[in-house]
Amino acid sequence: MPTPPASPWTLTARWVFPVDAPPLERGTVIMAGERIVAVEPHGTRQADVDCGNTAILPGFVNAHTHLDLSGLRGQTPPSPDFTDWLRQVIAHRRSRTPEQIQQDIQVGLAESLRFGTTLLGDISGDGSSWEILTRAPLRAIVFRELLGLPADRASGAWERLDRWLASRADTPTCRRGISPHAPYSVRSSLFFAAASARVPVAVHLAETAAEHELLLQRRGPFVPFLQELGVWAPEGLAEDTDHVLRLLQNPWALTLLVHGNLLSVTAAIPPNASIVYCPRTHAAFGHPSHPFREFLARGVRLAIGTDSLASNPDLDVLGELRFLHQRYPDVPGATLLRMATLAGAEALGWADETGSLTPGKSADLVVLPLLNQEQVDPHLLFLESARTERRVLWRGQWLGSV
Ligand SMILES: [Zn+2]
Repeated sequence: MPTPPASPWTLTARWVFPVDAPPLERGTVIMAGERIVAVEPHGTRQADVDCGNTAILPGFVNAHTHLDLSGLRGQTPPSPDFTDWLRQVIAHRRSRTPEQIQQDIQVGLAESLRFGTTLLGDISGDGSSWEILTRAPLRAIVFRELLGLPADRASGAWERLDRWLASRADTPTCRRGISPHAPYSVRSSLFFAAASARVPVAVHLAETAAEHELLLQRRGPFVPFLQELGVWAPEGLAEDTDHVLRLLQNPWALTLLVHGNLLSVTAAIPPNASIVYCPRTHAAFGHPSHPFREFLARGVRLAIGTDSLASNPDLDVLGELRFLHQRYPDVPGATLLRMATLAGAEALGWADETGSLTPGKSADLVVLPLLNQEQVDPHLLFLESARTERRVLWRGQWLGSV
Protein backbone atom coordinates (compact mmCIF):
# COMPACT_ATOMS: atom_id res chain seq x y z
CA MET A 1 0.00 0.00 0.00
CA PRO A 2 1.22 3.56 -0.64
CA THR A 3 2.01 5.62 2.44
CA PRO A 4 -0.80 7.71 3.93
CA PRO A 5 -0.41 11.51 4.00
CA ALA A 6 2.11 12.50 6.67
CA SER A 7 0.73 15.99 7.21
CA PRO A 8 -2.40 16.24 9.37
CA TRP A 9 -5.81 16.05 7.67
CA THR A 10 -9.29 16.25 9.07
CA LEU A 11 -12.59 14.44 8.58
CA THR A 12 -15.99 15.51 9.81
CA ALA A 13 -19.50 14.04 9.62
CA ARG A 14 -22.91 14.55 11.18
CA TRP A 15 -21.86 12.31 14.08
CA VAL A 16 -18.47 11.06 15.25
CA PHE A 17 -18.53 8.09 17.64
CA PRO A 18 -15.16 7.75 19.40
CA VAL A 19 -16.65 4.87 21.54
CA ASP A 20 -14.29 5.61 24.46
CA ALA A 21 -16.00 9.01 24.79
CA PRO A 22 -19.55 10.32 24.10
CA PRO A 23 -20.64 10.91 20.48
CA LEU A 24 -19.69 14.31 18.99
CA GLU A 25 -22.21 16.08 16.74
CA ARG A 26 -20.26 17.45 13.76
CA GLY A 27 -17.04 16.47 15.53
CA THR A 28 -13.73 16.14 13.73
CA VAL A 29 -11.13 13.39 13.50
CA ILE A 30 -7.61 14.59 12.80
CA MET A 31 -5.10 12.14 11.39
CA ALA A 32 -1.46 12.18 10.33
CA GLY A 33 0.28 9.27 8.69
CA GLU A 34 -1.45 6.14 9.88
CA ARG A 35 -2.43 7.53 13.30
CA ILE A 36 -5.26 9.50 14.84
CA VAL A 37 -3.79 12.64 16.37
CA ALA A 38 -6.94 14.26 17.80
CA VAL A 39 -10.72 13.91 18.07
CA GLU A 40 -12.38 17.28 18.67
CA PRO A 41 -15.83 18.80 19.11
CA HIS A 42 -17.42 20.88 16.37
CA GLY A 43 -16.04 24.35 15.82
CA THR A 44 -12.48 23.69 16.92
CA ARG A 45 -11.12 23.59 13.39
CA GLN A 46 -12.19 23.52 9.76
CA ALA A 47 -12.38 19.99 8.29
CA ASP A 48 -10.68 19.00 5.02
CA VAL A 49 -13.35 16.41 4.16
CA ASP A 50 -17.02 16.65 5.16
CA CYS A 51 -18.77 13.26 4.95
CA GLY A 52 -22.24 14.83 5.30
CA ASN A 53 -25.15 12.85 6.80
CA THR A 54 -22.96 9.99 7.97
CA ALA A 55 -21.39 8.53 11.08
CA ILE A 56 -17.68 8.05 11.60
CA LEU A 57 -17.13 4.95 13.75
CA PRO A 58 -14.06 2.91 14.66
CA GLY A 59 -13.60 0.00 12.24
CA PHE A 60 -15.66 -3.01 13.27
CA VAL A 61 -14.13 -5.95 15.13
CA ASN A 62 -15.38 -9.39 14.15
CA ALA A 63 -14.12 -11.49 17.03
CA HIS A 64 -15.24 -14.82 15.61
CA THR A 65 -15.52 -16.14 12.09
CA HIS A 66 -14.28 -19.02 9.93
CA LEU A 67 -13.28 -17.53 6.57
CA ASP A 68 -12.48 -21.00 5.23
CA LEU A 69 -16.20 -21.92 5.38
CA SER A 70 -17.23 -19.06 3.09
CA GLY A 71 -18.13 -21.53 0.33
CA LEU A 72 -21.13 -22.66 2.40
CA ARG A 73 -23.27 -19.53 2.16
CA GLY A 74 -26.93 -20.61 2.16
CA GLN A 75 -26.09 -24.31 1.78
CA THR A 76 -26.20 -25.57 5.37
CA PRO A 77 -29.07 -23.74 7.06
CA PRO A 78 -28.84 -24.10 10.85
CA SER A 79 -31.43 -26.34 12.49
CA PRO A 80 -32.06 -27.48 16.05
CA ASP A 81 -30.23 -30.72 15.12
CA PHE A 82 -26.71 -29.38 15.68
CA THR A 83 -24.85 -32.65 14.98
CA ASP A 84 -26.68 -32.99 11.66
CA TRP A 85 -25.48 -29.50 10.72
CA LEU A 86 -21.93 -30.43 11.78
CA ARG A 87 -22.05 -33.52 9.54
CA GLN A 88 -22.83 -31.27 6.57
CA VAL A 89 -19.99 -28.88 7.41
CA ILE A 90 -17.52 -31.77 7.77
CA ALA A 91 -18.64 -33.27 4.42
CA HIS A 92 -18.07 -29.88 2.78
CA ARG A 93 -14.61 -29.53 4.32
CA ARG A 94 -13.58 -32.95 3.11
CA SER A 95 -14.76 -32.16 -0.44
CA ARG A 96 -12.78 -28.94 -0.77
CA THR A 97 -9.35 -28.75 -2.41
CA PRO A 98 -6.65 -26.50 -0.89
CA GLU A 99 -7.10 -24.13 -3.86
CA GLN A 100 -10.84 -23.92 -3.26
CA ILE A 101 -10.24 -23.20 0.42
CA GLN A 102 -7.92 -20.32 -0.51
CA GLN A 103 -10.65 -18.94 -2.79
CA ASP A 104 -13.23 -19.29 -0.01
CA ILE A 105 -10.96 -17.37 2.38
CA GLN A 106 -10.57 -14.60 -0.21
CA VAL A 107 -14.37 -14.37 -0.61
CA GLY A 108 -14.86 -14.07 3.15
CA LEU A 109 -12.06 -11.54 3.46
CA ALA A 110 -13.43 -9.36 0.66
CA GLU A 111 -16.85 -9.37 2.30
CA SER A 112 -15.38 -8.52 5.71
CA LEU A 113 -13.48 -5.56 4.24
CA ARG A 114 -16.54 -4.29 2.38
CA PHE A 115 -18.56 -4.26 5.60
CA GLY A 116 -15.93 -2.24 7.44
CA THR A 117 -14.22 -4.91 9.56
CA THR A 118 -10.70 -3.77 10.40
CA LEU A 119 -9.87 -6.44 13.01
CA LEU A 120 -10.77 -10.09 12.62
CA GLY A 121 -10.48 -13.23 14.75
CA ASP A 122 -10.38 -16.07 12.24
CA ILE A 123 -10.57 -19.75 13.15
CA SER A 124 -8.57 -21.54 10.51
CA GLY A 125 -8.77 -25.31 9.87
CA ASP A 126 -5.06 -25.86 9.40
CA GLY A 127 -3.87 -22.27 9.62
CA SER A 128 -4.48 -21.85 5.90
CA SER A 129 -5.68 -18.23 6.16
CA TRP A 130 -2.29 -17.09 7.50
CA GLU A 131 -0.70 -16.17 4.15
CA ILE A 132 -3.74 -14.21 2.99
CA LEU A 133 -4.36 -12.42 6.29
CA THR A 134 -0.75 -11.36 6.79
CA ARG A 135 -1.05 -9.43 3.51
CA ALA A 136 -4.63 -8.19 3.92
CA PRO A 137 -5.60 -4.59 4.69
CA LEU A 138 -6.88 -5.39 8.18
CA ARG A 139 -5.54 -6.72 11.47
CA ALA A 140 -6.17 -10.34 12.39
CA ILE A 141 -5.52 -13.21 14.72
CA VAL A 142 -5.36 -16.56 12.95
CA PHE A 143 -6.51 -19.14 15.49
CA ARG A 144 -5.24 -22.45 14.16
CA GLU A 145 -7.80 -25.11 14.98
CA LEU A 146 -6.97 -28.08 17.22
CA LEU A 147 -9.11 -31.20 16.98
CA GLY A 148 -8.59 -34.53 18.72
CA LEU A 149 -10.48 -36.41 21.41
CA PRO A 150 -8.68 -39.81 21.39
CA ALA A 151 -5.18 -39.67 22.90
CA ASP A 152 -3.32 -40.44 19.65
CA ARG A 153 -5.26 -37.86 17.65
CA ALA A 154 -4.78 -35.24 20.35
CA SER A 155 -1.01 -35.72 20.49
CA GLY A 156 -0.69 -35.67 16.67
CA ALA A 157 -2.76 -32.48 16.48
CA TRP A 158 -0.63 -30.86 19.16
CA GLU A 159 2.63 -31.72 17.35
CA ARG A 160 1.33 -30.17 14.10
CA LEU A 161 0.16 -27.10 15.96
CA ASP A 162 3.49 -26.73 17.72
CA ARG A 163 5.33 -26.84 14.39
CA TRP A 164 2.93 -24.27 12.93
CA LEU A 165 3.46 -21.90 15.85
CA ALA A 166 7.25 -22.31 15.68
CA SER A 167 7.46 -21.85 11.91
CA ARG A 168 6.02 -18.33 11.74
CA ALA A 169 6.24 -15.11 13.71
CA ASP A 170 3.62 -12.50 14.46
CA THR A 171 3.67 -9.56 12.04
CA PRO A 172 2.68 -5.93 12.77
CA THR A 173 -0.88 -6.74 11.60
CA CYS A 174 -1.35 -10.50 12.05
CA ARG A 175 -0.85 -12.66 15.11
CA ARG A 176 -0.91 -16.37 15.85
CA GLY A 177 -3.57 -17.95 18.04
CA ILE A 178 -4.87 -21.41 18.91
CA SER A 179 -8.41 -22.74 18.84
CA PRO A 180 -8.94 -26.00 20.72
CA HIS A 181 -12.23 -26.46 18.91
CA ALA A 182 -14.84 -27.46 21.53
CA PRO A 183 -15.32 -29.74 24.54
CA TYR A 184 -16.95 -32.42 22.35
CA SER A 185 -14.06 -32.54 19.86
CA VAL A 186 -10.97 -31.89 21.99
CA ARG A 187 -9.28 -33.93 24.71
CA SER A 188 -9.43 -32.04 27.98
CA SER A 189 -5.60 -32.03 28.26
CA LEU A 190 -5.43 -29.93 25.07
CA PHE A 191 -7.29 -27.06 26.75
CA PHE A 192 -4.60 -26.94 29.42
CA ALA A 193 -1.81 -27.23 26.82
CA ALA A 194 -3.33 -24.47 24.68
CA ALA A 195 -3.70 -22.19 27.69
CA SER A 196 0.02 -22.62 28.43
CA ALA A 197 1.22 -21.67 24.92
CA ARG A 198 1.31 -17.89 25.53
CA VAL A 199 -0.79 -17.00 22.49
CA PRO A 200 -4.51 -16.08 22.39
CA VAL A 201 -6.91 -19.02 22.69
CA ALA A 202 -10.45 -19.30 21.27
CA VAL A 203 -12.81 -22.14 22.30
CA HIS A 204 -16.40 -22.87 21.24
CA LEU A 205 -18.00 -23.35 24.65
CA ALA A 206 -21.46 -24.05 26.08
CA GLU A 207 -22.88 -23.85 22.58
CA THR A 208 -25.64 -26.49 22.70
CA ALA A 209 -27.69 -28.56 25.12
CA ALA A 210 -26.22 -31.64 23.41
CA GLU A 211 -22.72 -30.54 24.50
CA HIS A 212 -23.87 -30.31 28.13
CA GLU A 213 -25.55 -33.70 27.89
CA LEU A 214 -22.37 -35.26 26.53
CA LEU A 215 -20.10 -33.81 29.22
CA LEU A 216 -22.39 -34.43 32.17
CA GLN A 217 -23.95 -37.76 31.20
CA ARG A 218 -21.80 -39.12 28.35
CA ARG A 219 -24.86 -39.56 26.18
CA GLY A 220 -27.01 -37.77 23.63
CA PRO A 221 -26.58 -37.03 19.91
CA PHE A 222 -22.83 -36.42 20.13
CA VAL A 223 -22.19 -40.09 21.02
CA PRO A 224 -23.25 -41.61 17.65
CA PHE A 225 -21.76 -38.57 15.89
CA LEU A 226 -18.32 -39.19 17.43
CA GLN A 227 -18.66 -42.97 16.93
CA GLU A 228 -19.37 -42.46 13.21
CA LEU A 229 -16.22 -40.38 12.92
CA GLY A 230 -14.21 -43.07 14.76
CA VAL A 231 -13.22 -40.68 17.54
CA TRP A 232 -15.41 -41.74 20.48
CA ALA A 233 -13.10 -41.55 23.51
CA PRO A 234 -15.21 -40.70 26.58
CA GLU A 235 -12.21 -40.83 28.94
CA GLY A 236 -10.81 -37.76 27.17
CA LEU A 237 -13.85 -35.55 27.75
CA ALA A 238 -13.86 -32.72 30.27
CA GLU A 239 -16.26 -33.19 33.20
CA ASP A 240 -18.37 -30.14 32.48
CA THR A 241 -18.16 -26.52 31.30
CA ASP A 242 -16.67 -25.33 34.60
CA HIS A 243 -13.91 -27.92 34.23
CA VAL A 244 -13.06 -26.48 30.79
CA LEU A 245 -13.01 -22.98 32.28
CA ARG A 246 -10.59 -24.14 34.98
CA LEU A 247 -8.32 -25.76 32.39
CA LEU A 248 -8.31 -22.52 30.41
CA GLN A 249 -7.13 -20.39 33.36
CA ASN A 250 -4.22 -18.59 31.81
CA PRO A 251 -2.34 -15.62 33.19
CA TRP A 252 -0.22 -15.13 30.03
CA ALA A 253 -2.67 -14.71 27.17
CA LEU A 254 -6.24 -13.86 26.30
CA THR A 255 -9.05 -16.38 26.06
CA LEU A 256 -12.15 -16.08 23.88
CA LEU A 257 -15.15 -18.13 24.96
CA VAL A 258 -17.09 -18.36 21.74
CA HIS A 259 -20.92 -18.55 21.87
CA GLY A 260 -21.48 -19.27 25.58
CA ASN A 261 -25.13 -19.73 24.65
CA LEU A 262 -25.81 -21.93 27.68
CA LEU A 263 -23.18 -20.60 30.07
CA SER A 264 -24.44 -20.33 33.61
CA VAL A 265 -24.71 -16.66 34.53
CA THR A 266 -22.73 -17.46 37.66
CA ALA A 267 -19.94 -19.31 35.81
CA ALA A 268 -16.42 -18.39 36.94
CA ILE A 269 -15.13 -16.55 33.87
CA PRO A 270 -11.32 -16.23 34.00
CA PRO A 271 -10.21 -12.59 34.38
CA ASN A 272 -8.58 -12.33 30.96
CA ALA A 273 -11.40 -14.12 29.14
CA SER A 274 -14.16 -12.63 27.02
CA ILE A 275 -17.42 -14.07 25.72
CA VAL A 276 -17.95 -13.79 21.96
CA TYR A 277 -21.65 -13.69 21.16
CA CYS A 278 -22.72 -14.49 17.60
CA PRO A 279 -26.32 -13.16 17.67
CA ARG A 280 -27.80 -14.20 14.34
CA THR A 281 -26.17 -17.63 14.39
CA HIS A 282 -27.36 -18.14 17.97
CA ALA A 283 -30.93 -17.31 16.91
CA ALA A 284 -30.79 -19.44 13.75
CA PHE A 285 -30.03 -22.57 15.79
CA GLY A 286 -33.04 -21.89 18.02
CA HIS A 287 -31.14 -21.78 21.34
CA PRO A 288 -32.80 -20.30 24.45
CA SER A 289 -32.17 -16.56 24.85
CA HIS A 290 -28.51 -15.65 25.30
CA PRO A 291 -27.37 -14.51 28.78
CA PHE A 292 -25.29 -11.60 27.38
CA ARG A 293 -27.14 -8.92 29.37
CA GLU A 294 -26.51 -10.78 32.62
CA PHE A 295 -22.80 -11.08 31.79
CA LEU A 296 -22.61 -7.41 30.84
CA ALA A 297 -24.20 -6.57 34.20
CA ARG A 298 -21.49 -8.66 35.90
CA GLY A 299 -18.78 -6.71 34.08
CA VAL A 300 -17.73 -9.62 31.84
CA ARG A 301 -16.42 -8.44 28.47
CA LEU A 302 -18.72 -9.26 25.56
CA ALA A 303 -17.51 -9.11 21.96
CA ILE A 304 -19.41 -9.77 18.75
CA GLY A 305 -18.78 -12.40 16.08
CA THR A 306 -20.58 -13.19 12.88
CA ASP A 307 -19.52 -16.85 12.92
CA SER A 308 -19.19 -18.27 9.41
CA LEU A 309 -21.29 -18.22 6.26
CA ALA A 310 -22.19 -21.84 7.10
CA SER A 311 -24.59 -20.46 9.73
CA ASN A 312 -24.96 -16.74 8.98
CA PRO A 313 -26.28 -14.87 5.92
CA ASP A 314 -23.29 -12.48 5.76
CA LEU A 315 -20.17 -11.32 7.63
CA ASP A 316 -21.56 -7.91 8.57
CA VAL A 317 -20.83 -7.05 12.22
CA LEU A 318 -23.23 -4.08 12.01
CA GLY A 319 -25.89 -6.57 10.85
CA GLU A 320 -25.42 -8.35 14.19
CA LEU A 321 -25.89 -5.07 16.09
CA ARG A 322 -29.03 -4.18 14.15
CA PHE A 323 -30.44 -7.64 14.88
CA LEU A 324 -29.67 -7.22 18.59
CA HIS A 325 -31.21 -3.75 18.67
CA GLN A 326 -34.45 -5.12 17.21
CA ARG A 327 -34.59 -7.94 19.75
CA TYR A 328 -33.34 -5.99 22.75
CA PRO A 329 -34.26 -2.32 22.29
CA ASP A 330 -33.57 -1.81 26.01
CA VAL A 331 -29.82 -2.38 25.53
CA PRO A 332 -28.24 1.06 24.93
CA GLY A 333 -26.87 1.67 21.44
CA ALA A 334 -23.56 2.74 22.99
CA THR A 335 -23.25 -0.67 24.67
CA LEU A 336 -23.89 -2.49 21.40
CA LEU A 337 -21.39 -0.32 19.51
CA ARG A 338 -18.74 -0.93 22.16
CA MET A 339 -19.23 -4.71 21.88
CA ALA A 340 -18.55 -4.51 18.13
CA THR A 341 -15.49 -2.25 18.40
CA LEU A 342 -13.50 -1.56 21.57
CA ALA A 343 -14.59 -4.66 23.51
CA GLY A 344 -13.70 -6.81 20.50
CA ALA A 345 -10.28 -5.18 20.26
CA GLU A 346 -9.74 -5.78 23.99
CA ALA A 347 -10.88 -9.40 23.64
CA LEU A 348 -8.35 -9.95 20.85
CA GLY A 349 -5.56 -8.06 22.64
CA TRP A 350 -5.38 -5.21 20.17
CA ALA A 351 -6.98 -2.32 22.06
CA ASP A 352 -3.70 -0.38 22.27
CA GLU A 353 -3.77 -0.05 18.49
CA THR A 354 -7.41 0.01 17.41
CA GLY A 355 -11.07 -0.32 18.49
CA SER A 356 -11.79 3.34 19.29
CA LEU A 357 -11.15 6.79 17.82
CA THR A 358 -8.43 7.72 20.26
CA PRO A 359 -5.36 9.89 19.70
CA GLY A 360 -2.34 7.65 19.14
CA LYS A 361 -4.32 4.70 17.80
CA SER A 362 -4.30 3.52 14.22
CA ALA A 363 -6.64 5.52 11.95
CA ASP A 364 -9.05 2.62 11.37
CA LEU A 365 -12.58 3.87 10.79
CA VAL A 366 -15.77 3.29 8.90
CA VAL A 367 -18.14 5.89 7.47
CA LEU A 368 -21.83 4.93 7.34
CA PRO A 369 -24.89 6.73 5.94
CA LEU A 370 -27.36 7.84 8.63
CA LEU A 371 -31.14 8.01 8.58
CA ASN A 372 -32.37 11.39 7.48
CA GLN A 373 -34.25 12.12 10.72
CA GLU A 374 -33.73 13.42 14.25
CA GLN A 375 -33.14 11.04 17.18
CA VAL A 376 -32.34 11.79 20.78
CA ASP A 377 -29.93 8.84 20.75
CA PRO A 378 -27.74 9.22 17.66
CA HIS A 379 -26.85 5.50 17.70
CA LEU A 380 -30.40 4.81 16.45
CA LEU A 381 -29.56 6.67 13.23
CA PHE A 382 -27.50 3.68 12.09
CA LEU A 383 -29.00 0.88 14.19
CA GLU A 384 -32.48 1.48 12.73
CA SER A 385 -31.23 1.87 9.15
CA ALA A 386 -30.84 -1.09 6.75
CA ARG A 387 -28.29 0.55 4.51
CA THR A 388 -25.13 -1.42 3.89
CA GLU A 389 -22.84 1.10 2.15
CA ARG A 390 -19.53 1.67 3.93
CA ARG A 391 -16.36 3.59 3.31
CA VAL A 392 -13.39 2.25 5.18
CA LEU A 393 -10.16 3.88 6.23
CA TRP A 394 -7.41 1.58 7.53
CA ARG A 395 -4.10 2.87 8.88
CA GLY A 396 -4.93 6.30 7.49
CA GLN A 397 -5.82 5.18 3.96
CA TRP A 398 -9.13 4.66 2.20
CA LEU A 399 -9.73 1.09 1.05
CA GLY A 400 -10.97 0.71 -2.52
CA SER A 401 -12.34 3.68 -4.40
CA VAL A 402 -13.62 6.64 -2.46
ZN1 LIG B 1 -17.25 -20.95 15.18
